[in-house]
Amino acid sequence: MALSRCFEKHSPPMGRNGNVYVDFAFPVGYPDTALVCGRPGCSHSGLVWMNKEELAAFNNGAAIFQGPNNFAQMKVLHQPIRKKFQMALDKELVAAPKGGLGFAEINAGNLHRIIGGYPGSNNRMPVCCAVMRATMKNGDAILHEPPKKNGASLTVRYKLPR
Ligand SMILES: [Zn+2]
Repeated sequence: MALSRCFEKHSPPMGRNGNVYVDFAFPVGYPDTALVCGRPGCSHSGLVWMNKEELAAFNNGAAIFQGPNNFAQMKVLHQPIRKKFQMALDKELVAAPKGGLGFAEINAGNLHRIIGGYPGSNNRMPVCCAVMRATMKNGDAILHEPPKKNGASLTVRYKLPR
């Protein structure tokens, strides 16, 4: 059974009864979607979290997922993985303390951990690093770059505010 949980506070969901949620998809319209985080009192838009079997179905093209009861099903989009990294990176840059250092240092390994899948054999580190580079503007700097260019140690200093 898929669950709706917001990215801001309640992802990934803590599955009950041994349910393990391994990845999420974006519901149609996200972030301006009718799907809201299922945690009582939360009003953030929800992502659709999937268990292993649901993820396999998603990867085979499925777009409609059943929740824990028959109230509604959830329809998701098949979107490029880079949108997840961009969302996580944007969140990190917005969350950096105001009046702080005037910059944020983002590490590729830490950024990948936010959306899951790292470390792991299916990690998407090259995409993660590409998003980090594409987000750079004048005044930003690469603080560390692994010899093969893309890797968990890639670290970029982004000037704030964006
Ligand atoms: Zn929430």
